Amino acid sequence: MTGRKTKMDSYVKAARPRFEQMLAEMVELPSISMDPARAADIRKTAKLAVQLLKEVGAEARIVETKGYPVVEGGWTTGKRHPTVLVYNHLDVQPAQEPEWKQAPFAFRKDQGLYRGRGATDDKGPALTALLAARYAIEQGTPINIRFLWELEEEIGSPHFAEALKPRTLVHKPDSVLVSDTIWIAKGRPAIPYGLRGALGVRLSLKTGRADAHSGVTGGAARNPLAELCALVNDCVEASTGRVKIPGFYADVAPPTKKEIENFLASGFQVTRFKKAYGFLSLRTTDPAEVLRRIWASPTFEVHGLVGGYVGPGVKMIVPGYAELKVSMRLVPDQTPEQIFRLFKRYVAERNPDVTVEAEGMLHPFKGSFSGPYAEAARRAMKAGFGKDPALVREGGSIGAVTTMQRAWHVPIIFMGLSLPEHGYHAPNEYFDWGQASGGMQALAAYFEELAKMKT
Ligand SMILES: [Zn+2]
Repeated sequence: MTGRKTKMDSYVKAARPRFEQMLAEMVELPSISMDPARAADIRKTAKLAVQLLKEVGAEARIVETKGYPVVEGGWTTGKRHPTVLVYNHLDVQPAQEPEWKQAPFAFRKDQGLYRGRGATDDKGPALTALLAARYAIEQGTPINIRFLWELEEEIGSPHFAEALKPRTLVHKPDSVLVSDTIWIAKGRPAIPYGLRGALGVRLSLKTGRADAHSGVTGGAARNPLAELCALVNDCVEASTGRVKIPGFYADVAPPTKKEIENFLASGFQVTRFKKAYGFLSLRTTDPAEVLRRIWASPTFEVHGLVGGYVGPGVKMIVPGYAELKVSMRLVPDQTPEQIFRLFKRYVAERNPDVTVEAEGMLHPFKGSFSGPYAEAARRAMKAGFGKDPALVREGGSIGAVTTMQRAWHVPIIFMGLSLPEHGYHAPNEYFDWGQASGGMQALAAYFEELAKMKT
């Protein structure tokens, strides 16, 4: 064992009680950004975050926006030192699923597992990064480490860009580290370098003031539910998922052969994927094709069709109104604005009476899987977890990432610590000491690598 490794090991061991205490306090605040009734808990979370940052010797403050605030803090050790900004979020998903085996906001420590909503997404990783940074600073590492902790990530980061405006003094860093992503398999670290974007749309059609008797009016009356179903069929081939909107794929940058090889090296298994999400069958069972579809291809999904009669039996009415909820996941180089224009025009041609409203737009993100920052992250993950990480993409979206990219144009590196079994956005969420301790080592190693880099 080298001196550095021994020192780091004893730091991590000693930091464990503090980590557990901080995580307990964080998890017990139900910071559900989606629920307006939890606004006071979000405020308390921001205050607690400031307190925890100060307790470990960092500066910290609350930066107000028109929505929920962000917490900014960290250590500035020297003007000439490189600055890394570490992004995490402290808001959480709702926790109303009936499958919870415990009160979701009562933190439970159970043999190295830390149970409760927000433990893995993203409070545990945030505190792991904080303690890793404290180590690097204690060692005199010549680096400035700033934290940006958001409280609106789970609602698409609507006010995050405000916090980055010059007057709020969140300075442009030399690089960004995001720790809010999931590995593909336990024991195999993963570094994603791409995220899909998203475009949510509500389509509504009103053809009558109320539901009408289908015997008396059917045949002459228009049926908005059927018309919206026809529109779905015009947009997507249901059996394959192929989108039929002209020009939809024009800006898609297909993944290279090398990328697909990297994807396959992630430990991904189709059977495990099926089991994890409870699927009975899939559109394809070829692993490369599954990964291409979930990480590097756009989609068109139908989430809900509202209208008509949904009670028991069959009530023979012609509905007067129907609404369709759809979304498209987007990949580089598509943009939600352009796709929305295409989609709106296409719907207007097919059915001019349908009202089309966008509900949330997130840009896709593609970083680099080579270059000095990606190399540093690879070495750091290996230092922390003893294995080379896989280079992957993610099918989901993190709005704040593209906001930071557009504001600063600096490298953005992902070093997530969550595992598929951690119950991300699902009941019985947890985090674990294995990921936290490995994560502390990996992130501390990353900070040391950054300190050596020329800015
Ligand atoms: Zn998250």
